[in-house]
Amino acid sequence: MSRRIAAFFDLDRTLLEVNSAGLWAKHELLGGNISARQFARVVLWNTLYHLSIIDIEAAFREAVAHYRGRRYRDLEEETRQWFAREVAHRIRPGARRTLREHREQGHDLVLLTSASAFEARAAVETWSLDDYLSNDFPTDDDGRLLGTFVPPLCYGEGKVRRAQAWASEREVDLAHSYFYSDSLTDFPMLRAVGYPRVVSPDPRLRRAAKRLGWPILEW
Ligand SMILES: [Mg+2]
Repeated sequence: MSRRIAAFFDLDRTLLEVNSAGLWAKHELLGGNISARQFARVVLWNTLYHLSIIDIEAAFREAVAHYRGRRYRDLEEETRQWFAREVAHRIRPGARRTLREHREQGHDLVLLTSASAFEARAAVETWSLDDYLSNDFPTDDDGRLLGTFVPPLCYGEGKVRRAQAWASEREVDLAHSYFYSDSLTDFPMLRAVGYPRVVSPDPRLRRAAKRLGWPILEW
């Protein structure tokens, strides 16, 4: 029996050599959309996020509330241009190679990220991925953001729930699928697939991967 297999990829510091949330915050600072103080908070969040010591949902809620009233369509277009200009070329060489290898094997290439759906769509389009799971934002009847996100947050266990729902709809077998990530925050999803792949990991994830015998890749 042939089974359908997916290769899931985290975005920030996995496919990309950088955390694109920081690049977006810089873009917003330069565009005058956030203050220096707000920028400093985002930088701090990014640091704490990697140490997994903040309430990520609360931080996310605060960040998203900032966009209340903005047009969904405008933000989509702005993100697309920003991604092409400042993000797309930051893909790691090993990521390009690995995407190609999975494509050649007929696997579904799926971005699985806590980034926005705007950014995820830009990435899918740029690198010809098959699908994405990310965070999206509800709007009012005029297409303006409500300043909230669609739960569950695509982060930690939320990534697992999203991936399981996606896989069962498509008869994809997670036990024979792959997930690539750099971060301990993705530990639940790494455990949910048959082939966890740890990429240039943070120190705690490196230790966990060694203990569990998971392959550690340097892209
Ligand atoms: Mg990451």
